[in-house]
Amino acid sequence: MKIYNTLSGQKEEFVPLNPNVVKMYVCGPTVYNLIHVGNARPAVVFDAFRRYLEYRGYSVIYVQNFTDVDDKIIKVANIEGVDPKVIGDRYVAGYFKDACELGIQPATCHPRTTNFIEQIKEFILELEKKHFAYQRGSDVYFDVSAFPSYGTLSHRNPSDMRSGARVEINENKDDPLDFVLWKGSKAGEPKWKSPWGDGRPGWHIECSSMSKTLLGDAFDIHAGGNDLIFPHHEDERAQTEALTSKKWVNYWMHNGMISVKDEKMSKSIGNIFTVREALKIYGKNAIRMYLLSKHYRSPIEFSSDRMEEAKTAYSRIARVMEEIEKKVGKDFRITEDEFVKDQKAKMIEVLDDDFNTPQALSIIFDLVKDVISTGNLERMKSVKVLVDEWNYFLGFDFEPDRKNVDDFIELELKLRNDARMRKDYAQSDEIRKKLEELGIEIMDLPEGTRWRWK
Ligand SMILES: [Zn+2]
Repeated sequence: MKIYNTLSGQKEEFVPLNPNVVKMYVCGPTVYNLIHVGNARPAVVFDAFRRYLEYRGYSVIYVQNFTDVDDKIIKVANIEGVDPKVIGDRYVAGYFKDACELGIQPATCHPRTTNFIEQIKEFILELEKKHFAYQRGSDVYFDVSAFPSYGTLSHRNPSDMRSGARVEINENKDDPLDFVLWKGSKAGEPKWKSPWGDGRPGWHIECSSMSKTLLGDAFDIHAGGNDLIFPHHEDERAQTEALTSKKWVNYWMHNGMISVKDEKMSKSIGNIFTVREALKIYGKNAIRMYLLSKHYRSPIEFSSDRMEEAKTAYSRIARVMEEIEKKVGKDFRITEDEFVKDQKAKMIEVLDDDFNTPQALSIIFDLVKDVISTGNLERMKSVKVLVDEWNYFLGFDFEPDRKNVDDFIELELKLRNDARMRKDYAQSDEIRKKLEELGIEIMDLPEGTRWRWK
């Protein structure tokens, strides 16, 4: 298997530290709001990748954190006049609800910053001892100049970055590139006792500390959105490798951003679409199709056109799966013939190439394309078994919704027949037109009205 590694800027052969177990850490959301479609991309894509690793025979230890102490959480808590913990708890619960409806499996572990304060303090003390950190007032900073390979992950040159950077007025660090490990608390902020005074952790330190505690000093894959490469992941890497003097992460995977009319979808820009809204309008299957039909590293645009396309693409597969089931039922076995073996090999080939899900889906589109019209029942069975097997990592629901759709169409047809009986042809034509726009063809046959998907 090959994975594109941000660190080397190349696709590399994937060799886990332990031949059977893959350890993976994915940066999770800051819990101050419901997640939006942009947050859903790493969650869906890396969960699908994790399941593909399982499909390929690995056990996967998958950690995804919640940042539950942060300026934005404090701000929302102050507006509502509640403890920041209330906000954190609410949106952790919100995340689990949305993730579950999107078909994302829970991680092996979902650590929260506020449960790791002791480990974070120990981490910082250790960095201080090794002269990678210094205290200014109640703040503690990481000394970037003490870590020579700073910038390697994001392929940036520290002196170039310095020339463009400046130190904010409220910061008293020695170098504009230095970043905060521990922040002295201001009035009205959550705080913990520490050797440097009351305060709270900086953002980057939590992922280093949690991953060290849960996955050890070195692990296989660290993933997240490519907006995290700098400074978040660069800083995580610097402080962890400074502490352990070991290579921390072997493969860095980053997904591309979702844009809306050429701007990144983000809460600060205000062009967000929450997962909850998207689920209501398009449904889980369309969202998963939308996210998986582009390579995870490519940027994608979010628009109602793209979502409708995804919905149509999904129905192309779902409809054939349904048709096959009608023809051959559910309880059958297939023999693994050359055709099945070839298809499985093809699927593994494209997904082993840096998890190329658009190619994987095109294999499925090819398989479902003419399988019904050939009338070959054995081939239909093979296709169904293959798609069901691959659905372990694609995560579609081929079952639900269908009955509702059928009921809806039957109801519309009944209304149309009633209209025709009344000789209200304007009404009956309107219903026909509406159904046709939905891709449904109506046939008035001597034995009654039939319908089918166009
Ligand atoms: Zn992180």
